[in-house]
Amino acid sequence: MSLPFNIAIDGHSSCGKSTISKAVASKYGMRYIDTGAMYRAVTLFCMENNIISNKEIKLNLLIEEIDNITIDFIFNSETKLSETILNGKNVEQIIRGFNVSDNVSVVAQIQQVRKKLITLQQEIGSQGSVVMDGRDIGTKVFPDAKLKLFVTADAEIRAKRRYSELKRKGEKITFDQVLANLTLRDDHDMNRIINPLLQADDAILIDNSNLSINEQNNLIDNFIINILSK
Ligand code: C5P
Repeated sequence: MSLPFNIAIDGHSSCGKSTISKAVASKYGMRYIDTGAMYRAVTLFCMENNIISNKEIKLNLLIEEIDNITIDFIFNSETKLSETILNGKNVEQIIRGFNVSDNVSVVAQIQQVRKKLITLQQEIGSQGSVVMDGRDIGTKVFPDAKLKLFVTADAEIRAKRRYSELKRKGEKITFDQVLANLTLRDDHDMNRIINPLLQADDAILIDNSNLSINEQNNLIDNFIINILSK
């Protein structure tokens, strides 16, 4: 069965939005779109083309180049996960690195970047049965989504989870750097002028600080069953 509606998942950095989205997409045969990956891919483009350095953006150059940025997703049949393609190149690994995390919230504040990516996200969503996660999905991208979740957890707990993940990947990083990056990104995301991170009025709040992944999945299943039974 494929769910006949879109699901919008927003929340703070590193709170497990993608874990939820992948589980829901796989269980209900939906397409998962990670919008953070799109902002990360644009950030990588800026880094590779000297449009950003030390978190300073050359806005004129970005505007000149923005139409040359193409982002796609391909499905990896081995891992059963979607991977991010920037201008024909698979960038799935590199966009998850700490360098990109360190610059992404600056790029995500630029109006032209948001306009381009939101248009693309809405095009994908118009095909239906999409789980999309990000910061402004319930408020701006799919304001009419039937199910909206706003996910959060204690910042230290999120930083611990993210730190373990980066360590496993071999990144040379300290816990304090991870915590500082996460707090700064939340701050930028919540306080930017255009499309700040906020809980939509009709979004359900999930604080997963003390929830296991199973408990969280069961909770969300119940929300979905409830909508389907109406
Ligand atoms: O979800 P993830 O942490 O990978 O997102 C990276 C960054 O992209 C966020 O810190 C945020 O600045 C930006 N973002 C955004 N709007 C979205 C998704 C991500 O501003 N819809």
